[in-house]
Amino acid sequence: MDLDIKGKRALVTASSKGLGLGCAEALAEAGVDLVMNARSEGPLAKAAEDIRARFKVEVTEVAADITTEDGRADVLAAAGKVDILVTNAGGPPPGLWSDWDRNDFIAALDANMLTPIALMKILLPGMMDQGWGRVVNITSQSVKAPIPVLGLSNAARAGLTGYVAGTARQVAPSGVTINNLLPGIHATDRADALDKGVSQQQNISLEDATAQRQATIPARRYGTRQEFGAACAFLCSQHAGFIVGQNILLDGGAVNTTL
Ligand code: NAP
Repeated sequence: MDLDIKGKRALVTASSKGLGLGCAEALAEAGVDLVMNARSEGPLAKAAEDIRARFKVEVTEVAADITTEDGRADVLAAAGKVDILVTNAGGPPPGLWSDWDRNDFIAALDANMLTPIALMKILLPGMMDQGWGRVVNITSQSVKAPIPVLGLSNAARAGLTGYVAGTARQVAPSGVTINNLLPGIHATDRADALDKGVSQQQNISLEDATAQRQATIPARRYGTRQEFGAACAFLCSQHAGFIVGQNILLDGGAVNTTL
């Protein structure tokens, strides 16, 4: 399918690896020029070069911590006006409900709620002025079904979801859509880290920890960044203009609900 977004410009934050990279690759495949971001320069430069070589699109890369004001200023200065925004950042650490103090909550809120909101507030007006724009926020299945060890993530992402629900309806009249993509377990560094946590906590091998988590998914496997990226690119396409304010699960059936 031609996504009909060739020549558009997208900012994809936290995109040197994993789900963000999957989104950047799929947009590039559709002919979209990119601004990519991550904190570590080396992997970011490598990912950007790989995308340039494979898809012949323009890629600007900015090494910065997107959860800080200075980092966002650097990224936004390099990005200028964009047609598409995909927000992403690292996820908060796992723990117990009693582990976290105010600073932990503030860090999680900054990363997974206030950063995407700050990016939207700056970039939405340009999209609205031109009468076309797409925003996809990478959140988590934990928005629909809480993951007990990820209390910080459950809390922060619920806040973002509430903000998007109202905002998406306010900007839709200007031809701008905002939607959230909710990953279940995908095979990325983040999933490896969570598998290692389960292996240590339960004193089982890493393979057993992975197999245990895969068994909880009806599809009996982890998702791939390519599958995730394809869904993101579709939401950013011309065809998705009537999809507004939705929370779309990509989880192999793991969240056991009818709706
Ligand atoms: P990942 O494989 O660890 O990749 C994270 C990417 O984000 C890397 O490129 C990393 O590069 C960058 N990054 C992290 N913190 C950043 C920051 N402060 N500023 C800029 N870039 C940053 O993670 P992932 O699995 O793709 O997960 C992406 C998001 O989806 C996370 O919020 C995660 O919690 C959520 N999620 C993932 C899964 C899953 O199964 N994978 C499931 C549910 C939710 P640098 O380290 O160089 O900055």
